[in-house]
Amino acid sequence: MLLFTITFLVSCNEDDTMCIETLWYEDADGDGLGNPAVSQSACEQPEGYVADNTDTDESGTMETVVDVDGSYFTTANANITITKIPCTLSDGTETECYQIVTNSTPTDHQMGPWCPENIADDASTGGIWLEGGEVYDVDGAFVENLASFYNDNTWRMYDANGDIYITETEQDCINAANPNVGDAYQNFCVECIPSYITDISQTYIIPVTPVKQSDPVFFATGPGGPGSNVPSTRGLALNGVEYSAPAPVNNILGAYTLAPFDDAGGHINVNQGYHYHAATGLSFSIAQTDGHAALIGYAMDGHGIYGRLDENGNEPTDLDECLGHYDEVRGYHYHVDAAGNNNFINCLTGAYPN
Ligand SMILES: [Zn+2]
Ligand SMILES: [Zn+2]
Repeated sequence: MLLFTITFLVSCNEDDTMCIETLWYEDADGDGLGNPAVSQSACEQPEGYVADNTDTDESGTMETVVDVDGSYFTTANANITITKIPCTLSDGTETECYQIVTNSTPTDHQMGPWCPENIADDASTGGIWLEGGEVYDVDGAFVENLASFYNDNTWRMYDANGDIYITETEQDCINAANPNVGDAYQNFCVECIPSYITDISQTYIIPVTPVKQSDPVFFATGPGGPGSNVPSTRGLALNGVEYSAPAPVNNILGAYTLAPFDDAGGHINVNQGYHYHAATGLSFSIAQTDGHAALIGYAMDGHGIYGRLDENGNEPTDLDECLGHYDEVRGYHYHVDAAGNNNFINCLTGAYPN
């Protein structure tokens, strides 16, 4: 854009000395470039204004970048160990990262329950199931009605007394989680319980300062994928529990098993420990003072992940394909997908640790 200046000849003071007023353009972001939409005329350069009017980025060329706040993790879960280490990101940036070591056990809410024991049991005895964007309580009636829910009479997950078939041992939970599970576990409600994962330790590395990229990268599995070398882990809740790739519900259902999530959106497998497939709002969060949704975790690129709805219950309307957007307070950040979608975010906009 060409720089142009409009000049006026006006009388500026009582003794009729002439001065030359020119237009000055606001330079809110201090980059020396003025905003063509905000101007005033004056003889002298006003504070915060410049003669240039070529700043095409009104939010400023210096975008807000917000560091990960490591103290949130240890506030949410005293069992988390967090340290800073040198690291190299996917774009070659050499920087500092947080190394977060957890036992994948939340301390801010209970784990489970997952499977109700009898078809007469109420919702307090079971977890949730995610289907078609909706969250369903896995109560006794849900299990009783699986055949009609999925329009397939092979479903019958209970005996003549209404007792629900549930995996009972660690070996059962391992076997039933196998995608090639045979008929042996058909019509079982699969649950792995916390006593199976007492010696889990997981280490996650995320950049302290996110480095936004011009193009997003998609995860190894899930919406938009498969990406190539990108991790499948989406991020970490502030309590240190992993936001995992979508649960393979088609495999689970194809084997006529049900592996419910608890009311917090999590369940256990013996390799990963406890992990989330949905954010239902039960984990530790950091409220925002301006009505924006609360911070619930961080993505693997160090950008914050916030809840879906602001304090008035409204969804953001300007999210990009990764489910992110920018504001001056939080910088670039994500808003988590609806729990019923078995998903958190669709891609990473920032560089991730190699
Ligand atoms: Zn899972
Ligand atoms: Zn936002």
